[in-house]
Amino acid sequence: MLLCATAVMLLASCSCGEKKAKYVFYFIGDGMGFSHISLAEGYLATKAGKIGNDPLCFTQFPVMGMATSYSANKYITCSSAAGTALATGTKTNNGMLGTTPDSSNLTAISYKIHNAGFPVGVTTSVTIDHATPGSFYANSTARSDYYGISEQLATSGFEFFGGGGFYGAKDKRHQEKSLYEIAAENGYEFAYGVKDYKAKKSQGAEKVILFQEDEAKRNNDLPYVHERVEGDLTLPEVVTAAVDFLNNENGFFLMVEGGKIDWAAHSNELVGTVFELLDFDQAIAVAYEFYKQHPDETLIVVTADHETGGVTLGRGKGYAYDLSVIDKVAGAEGAEGTDVSNYMQDISNDSLSVAAQIGWTTTSHTGGAVPVFAVGAGSEMFAGRQDNTDIPKKICKAMGVAF
Ligand SMILES: [Zn+2]
Repeated sequence: MLLCATAVMLLASCSCGEKKAKYVFYFIGDGMGFSHISLAEGYLATKAGKIGNDPLCFTQFPVMGMATSYSANKYITCSSAAGTALATGTKTNNGMLGTTPDSSNLTAISYKIHNAGFPVGVTTSVTIDHATPGSFYANSTARSDYYGISEQLATSGFEFFGGGGFYGAKDKRHQEKSLYEIAAENGYEFAYGVKDYKAKKSQGAEKVILFQEDEAKRNNDLPYVHERVEGDLTLPEVVTAAVDFLNNENGFFLMVEGGKIDWAAHSNELVGTVFELLDFDQAIAVAYEFYKQHPDETLIVVTADHETGGVTLGRGKGYAYDLSVIDKVAGAEGAEGTDVSNYMQDISNDSLSVAAQIGWTTTSHTGGAVPVFAVGAGSEMFAGRQDNTDIPKKICKAMGVAF
């Protein structure tokens, strides 16, 4: 949040929209509805001992809009149909990834941008073959074919991947031919943890895949913020490495998914939802620091694929909610270095939400529109009402890349 202290002043003097966007960040908060954002802001205000909403980094961006999120066959989208819309500009059926409803392959903007000469990075806090990152490099009629999706990662040619490992390593095909082997055959160097990343980069690696240092955790999603232990890879670290690796005078394109906002919200976990959102904001703050160095040529777009959990700020009767319960749990002190696991073992998440007067209406997704925030070159295009399929088209336009 401190990183954004000078945001308003800088933004006021920004003459955005003149130059093409050369450095582009595309952040997707999986499951991040408007209420999730208010929840995180309410938590920050509560910590400061007041009633209010303390802004996040990205909620101070000067451009705000909304995006409708329905899929081709459902009012309520799943992450692969929404990821496909956000990556290719075409709606598809729930469960499909990078294909039309009649199974024709679509081309994600990441390929169009790559073909135009920009290095590309795809990163996430869940496994790298999950629906949202997969939408940016794969075509599959089944989002659950993790092995098949990871094979396409290996042949994408994109310069940087980072986050949770190959869920597809659990597939029996992986025993016959390892996904690690396939990626290595295609010129990828694996970096396990930040230190190893730095070593691989200094050794001249041309394409990098950054996973967890701990081998036992490697093919899982990155740990929840509140379950993190020393040495665990974090989403802000992944973004820092990606920027370091991709940065060059010709520009780059980086997609970042905050995937565990969705997972926490599916479980109706109040603490996880708030802390994952704050962590996602910290990852965006890394991009914002970069933006401040290149304000005329950087574009940051932040959106979501859908809302998860139907979370409400308020529950039952009365005009109040109380997020102070979050910090009362087992020594919890905030998003960094917090351990709330003891509390979670003792009391159900639902009890915590009841105590906080936070409501949940579903353990699935909901069908509302999602927020869009943007700053930098071309950001004004993202204001107002749009469909999720419009966003990738606008990104290409901002970059001067043919859609
Ligand atoms: Zn979900």
